[in-house]
Amino acid sequence: MPELPEVETVRRGLDRFAVGRRVERVEVGRERTVRRTSRRAVIDGLTDTTITAAHRRGKYLLLPLDSGDELMIHLRMSGQVLVAPAGTDRPPHTHVVAHLDDGNELWFVDPRTFGEVVVFDPTNVEVELPELARLGPDPISDGLSLRELRSLLRTRKRLLKPLLLDQHAIAGIGNIYADEILHAARLRPDRLSDELPTAAERRLHGAIHEILTRAIEAGGSTLGDAQYVDLLGEGGSYQDDHAVYGRAGERCQTCGVGWIRRTVSAQRSTHFCPRCQR
Ligand SMILES: [Zn+2]
Repeated sequence: MPELPEVETVRRGLDRFAVGRRVERVEVGRERTVRRTSRRAVIDGLTDTTITAAHRRGKYLLLPLDSGDELMIHLRMSGQVLVAPAGTDRPPHTHVVAHLDDGNELWFVDPRTFGEVVVFDPTNVEVELPELARLGPDPISDGLSLRELRSLLRTRKRLLKPLLLDQHAIAGIGNIYADEILHAARLRPDRLSDELPTAAERRLHGAIHEILTRAIEAGGSTLGDAQYVDLLGEGGSYQDDHAVYGRAGERCQTCGVGWIRRTVSAQRSTHFCPRCQR
């Protein structure tokens, strides 16, 4: 499932290929992709508008339009945004096509159809996209200071792994990067957030920024199923740098002593080194 670094890579692609372009025509196939509103709402909301910017908050892509509305794209499990010259053969599961005025087409492709495309009024976000209004700070696009993180950790009193996954606390981190961040911070996933020494809070703060920044530089992580790709269909390379995620049973490369362990909590797999994460 695409997380902050993957969605940020897609955002950069949209910045390059979509911003400044006018949408001349829109096709919507699968109605499930536009279930939040309707096929008609997405077609009418996008047609003859110009995309003025490409933003991201957490895992949400937000593209303001010159009509005053915004286009929201959420990739969820398997969504992809691809760009191709008009007339190119489309892959299966292409549910939305925007014909741009430079002769390119923007495709929303989604085999599992959990993803969403919505045109909404940003002045009415609490009603039209309530979960967006409730998102916590995004460590990259909003910044997340040590002071803010410390206040989150001390007031939420939760286990670190589920806290990092909680989009209302911090936006954008999912299962892969939560595991990698906790490993870099040398903290066990089941530590309680309000019982960390100050030095551990500082390590966690540093690890959040370091891991997410490095993963963005690598274009995100593309796992075996290859569902996540950028606008040109290229995968990322950060999976090669995963220290714990997907490495259960392997020797920990960080300490060279421990063995990576995999546990399951709240139906999510968690990977950590019991030797260097305390
Ligand atoms: Zn280790």
